[in-house]
Amino acid sequence: MKRRHFLAAGGWMAAARMSTAQQNGEGQPSGPRGRTRAREASTEGKGLQPLDGGKIGNAPAMKITDIKTFLIGAGGRNWVYVKILTDQGLHGLGEAYSAGPDEATIKVIEDFKTWLVGQDPRNVQYLFDLMYNTTRFPGGLVVSAAISGIEHALWDLAGKSAGVPVWALLGGRTRNKIRTYQSIGGNTPEEAAASAKQLVETFGYTALKMSIMAPGTMSFNQSIRESAARVAAVRQAVGPDIDIGVDVHTKFVEVQRAVRLARAIEPYDPMWMEEPIRPENFDAMKKLSEQVRIPLASGESNYGKYEFKELIESQALDYVQPDICLCGGVLEMKKIAAMAEAQYMLVAPHNPMSPLGTAVNVHFAASTPNFHILEYAAPVSGARKDVLKEPLMVKKDGYLEIPNKPGWGVELNEEAFQHMPPVRWKRGTNFRSDGSPYFQ
Ligand SMILES: [Mg+2]
Repeated sequence: MKRRHFLAAGGWMAAARMSTAQQNGEGQPSGPRGRTRAREASTEGKGLQPLDGGKIGNAPAMKITDIKTFLIGAGGRNWVYVKILTDQGLHGLGEAYSAGPDEATIKVIEDFKTWLVGQDPRNVQYLFDLMYNTTRFPGGLVVSAAISGIEHALWDLAGKSAGVPVWALLGGRTRNKIRTYQSIGGNTPEEAAASAKQLVETFGYTALKMSIMAPGTMSFNQSIRESAARVAAVRQAVGPDIDIGVDVHTKFVEVQRAVRLARAIEPYDPMWMEEPIRPENFDAMKKLSEQVRIPLASGESNYGKYEFKELIESQALDYVQPDICLCGGVLEMKKIAAMAEAQYMLVAPHNPMSPLGTAVNVHFAASTPNFHILEYAAPVSGARKDVLKEPLMVKKDGYLEIPNKPGWGVELNEEAFQHMPPVRWKRGTNFRSDGSPYFQ
């Protein structure tokens, strides 16, 4: 009805009378049974209704029947997996960030399960909204990790149901292969240089990442000097054309200390300086960016589009580094990437989790125009080698192929889990010379 017709028919008054009657329960049978029926009626029409009987195209209706979790040990840390089962016999897989109190993440996933059983898993945005909005208070580390793992599994099911890889549902491919980098090992400059050379020779990486030397017991000048020596040694070992990311891991709080470090490593042309200061204060990051001539990268400790909005709009960074197992999942990361794209920033996903997280990232990267490079660790040994039936293996040019199977295109190797008992872990704490703890 057009607005003028609505008004001519006394629509506002009629609508107001109807609303008042509904609020008073008028028109419903009186008495306890009547009130029960009224309550039941009040729940009708809430939530997403089946579209055309629940069919999506030619794919039949689908309902979530169960959500399983796996907590497995991977060396000194755990990996948290989500497996969503459906009445169509299909299952979806996801990975939640290993936050430390990983049993808590499992409990949150189990709670969300009571909200999600019976829902069509392919309505990914709707189910994200259901979890996010009903939680009401913005999720912290544990809740955001739980939502992310569940969201991945919904996407896996959406792809499997449609018979296409997830990237095909995210806008298709924007590239033919996915560029990766791996972090080097080694303490001394010589060890770091040898590790860098070996990784480039073995996997053909076009980029690497390294950390700095800044134990709290070290004087500031010494930490700057030794960090610069490490970067210099790696640069000399790999030559001028391999990109080197330098991860400060938020070991500094003060902007001017980060400026001093940046000036010390600038001669070696780093690809970026990562988490150069703590991640909470975007004004401080902006101030830093105005005083250094190295691109800045940050974001692994931030999550959600609202927090990233502030970070991205600060224009302090050249690279944002959301973690797809923590930031809220694939759609949330696509939204973060779109905001970054509009500010001329690239996305370099933080990806220290398992090969399943890598697979999820590859679909994001395949479909995202301002993707730059993916953090990666070649699955050549230990849990990383065994946890998937066919983990994505980097080719000799440092790139990953884009899977073309339905869903993520990878499956968990559940038989191997019996050899991977979970461990209790927390981040190591570093102490300054005076005994006070500092961030690691
Ligand atoms: Mg980092």
